[in-house]
Amino acid sequence: MPKPAKEKIQEISNKLLYGSLDEAMNSALTCRQCQLCEGRNSVVFADGNPNAKLMIIGEGPGQQEDEQGLPFVGRAGQLLDKILASANIDRKSETYICNVVKCRPPGNRVPSLEEMEACRSYIEAQIAYVNPKLILLAGATALGAILKTKEPISRIRGKWFDYKTGAKIMPIFHPSYLLRNDSKQVGSPKWHMWQDIKEVKKALESLQ
Ligand code: SF4
Repeated sequence: MPKPAKEKIQEISNKLLYGSLDEAMNSALTCRQCQLCEGRNSVVFADGNPNAKLMIIGEGPGQQEDEQGLPFVGRAGQLLDKILASANIDRKSETYICNVVKCRPPGNRVPSLEEMEACRSYIEAQIAYVNPKLILLAGATALGAILKTKEPISRIRGKWFDYKTGAKIMPIFHPSYLLRNDSKQVGSPKWHMWQDIKEVKKALESLQ
């Protein structure tokens, strides 16, 4: 018989390095576990509501995020805000947003496997303590880091998968990819994103 969600979360949180979300954040703020600490201005832990049912996980902070200490505030973040707003999802109150790594990779390169592993305890703690019902993985890096799959995002975006906490998890395109692919034609990345976000809204509503 499958374990109840509460029991599963308890089992997972027993394996966590931190006793609470605040403890994880405080540890991250002074973390020097990988070389990304060298060039950072800020540790970008999260934004939004820690009680949200919807969590969005991206790759890592860019320049704007590093300067402001908040995830998804640059051009890609502004597009994400618009996408959420178009489905009547309020970023501040209805989502909790974070990244796989908390410090900016130089030149916005993709974080290395070692850097993602060094940072893994924080994202694990965030998922366990926020305990969202729905998780969106924005882009291939978040997809690989969390679901540990090499499946191309173009093939599995928009599909719900079961995560170990009991949450439903869906890969979506990263908004920065949409900035480079502006077409809104049927079948374009933006069109797919619109279909996906409608599906997310439907799933959110079914949780009410
Ligand atoms: S990226 Fe993560 S592991 Fe690396 S220094 Fe920053 S908080 Fe620590």
